[in-house]
Amino acid sequence: MIVGEQVVTISSRVTSFTAVCELCTELDSLDGYAGTTFGGRLDLDVDHATFLCRRGHSVRVEREHRAWPSADDL
Ligand SMILES: [Zn+2]
Repeated sequence: MIVGEQVVTISSRVTSFTAVCELCTELDSLDGYAGTTFGGRLDLDVDHATFLCRRGHSVRVEREHRAWPSADDL
């Protein structure tokens, strides 16, 4: 079974976030738990990064758009 990469989007000026791992949510619901989240940090100059949840599932975090104009905009 191939599981697609999870993607979480955060707003442009956020540096720390709490995300839900959907794979863990699925596993936890089987065990009777709910609300599996993990926290991370993405500096303002970083547009995207891949984080691992507490079980090691890969979650890609993407910033909505740049907080300031980039060289591409000039
Ligand atoms: Zn997970």
